[in-house]
Amino acid sequence: MRMLDIIERKKKKQELTGDEIRFFVEAASGKTVPDYQLAAMLMAIRLNGMTDRETTDLTLAMLHSGDMADLSRIPGIKVDKHSTGGVGDTTTLVLGPLVAACGVPVAKMSGRGLGHTGGTLDKLESIPGMRVDLSEKDFIRQVGEIGLAVVSQTAELAPADKVLYALRDVTSTVDSLPLIVSSILSKKLASGVDGIVLDVKTGSGAILSTEAESLRLAETMVRVCDLVGKPVTALVTSMDQPLGTHVGNALEVKEAIDLLAGRVEGDLLEVSLMLGGTMVMMAGKAGTEEEAEEMLREAIASGRGLRKMEELIRAQGGDPRVCQDPSLLPKAPLVCPVFCGKAGYVRRMDTAALGWAAQRLGAGRQRKEDPVDPAVGFVMKVRLGDRVTEDTILCEVHARSAEAADQAAEAIRKAIEIGPEKPEIRPLCIARFSGSRKLEAAGE
Ligand code: URA
Ligand code: CA
Repeated sequence: MRMLDIIERKKKKQELTGDEIRFFVEAASGKTVPDYQLAAMLMAIRLNGMTDRETTDLTLAMLHSGDMADLSRIPGIKVDKHSTGGVGDTTTLVLGPLVAACGVPVAKMSGRGLGHTGGTLDKLESIPGMRVDLSEKDFIRQVGEIGLAVVSQTAELAPADKVLYALRDVTSTVDSLPLIVSSILSKKLASGVDGIVLDVKTGSGAILSTEAESLRLAETMVRVCDLVGKPVTALVTSMDQPLGTHVGNALEVKEAIDLLAGRVEGDLLEVSLMLGGTMVMMAGKAGTEEEAEEMLREAIASGRGLRKMEELIRAQGGDPRVCQDPSLLPKAPLVCPVFCGKAGYVRRMDTAALGWAAQRLGAGRQRKEDPVDPAVGFVMKVRLGDRVTEDTILCEVHARSAEAADQAAEAIRKAIEIGPEKPEIRPLCIARFSGSRKLEAAGE
């Protein structure tokens, strides 16, 4: 088999065989064909798409390109959630402790910031002393002891994705439905969880911005999970504006702590309850979504969720006092208000541009090896549909220097559209798809 022939076939919109797809994936993970041929293949897939069967074969080939984590020594049903990536989206830090407080073990392997989106590991590392690089043994022991661990990948899961993702990032092929499906699901299936809850973002801050594309992405992920026999539920949720008000690593940890302490309401809480409720229900701890959400709310009201967060931080070497006193988190030297300068309604936000503004302040990386600045970012003071005047503060920028703050302020002002008419705002949850496999049938 030759890579050139496979590229040629996808270029002509022909359906690839399983053998051809496996050849491509093995070539990627074994580095046996040059990057330019892999890149050409990625672009052919981006432009001509794949059938469900091809996407499933691609997912399975990528899954089998590396190790599988073994969570079977952790008792109970392990359910994980994965988001396609958002801005101000710290749901993992909220629902991890809450779901664990409801008796569902959370064995979470998270990622770092990517493009304009933040990453849970970078956020956690803003807590003084916190470690995320646990060995598989320590990871499993910790989940056994306190019911919760949030770590970086413990083994080489789906190494083909690492190679392909790096190429996609620099060849304009990130926004491809079959490539997103196979990238996310190969890693999730390799992580050894019993069930998956997917948060597929749609809107100006999402990887695929149109609602139709996001719906198709969610449906396809559910179908592929069905084909491989993994229980799944996918929610399509709005990323028309940052989910929480805080954007940046320590700032998002602070917001998560404030929420667990019962001090935050709004969209971040609502989406966390929907996703967390789905996890609790999938794990069989509640009969209905409403019951599951009630359990999660009770974990906030009783303080059990915040205590679980403290246990998590202590277990991974961090300073748990941040939960009682978030001012112990790293702080930027400058906090500058950004004034609106116009009167009207907040009509639209370019959420990806807001994410990029945070990354440029230092919350994200220019290059893969770069460190992130834990302290910088911004706190939004307006939501879509709010009425504003010239003196309204849009947000507060937390920066290292006046120059960086000015640059961010300009980008943020440009990203927020103010107009005379009140906009229509979509519901937070746009759709929900559940797979046909249930956990009881999954050999539990
Ligand atoms: N997250 C991933 O891991 N892969 C993608 O392709 C998109 C988001
Ligand atoms: Ca509900």
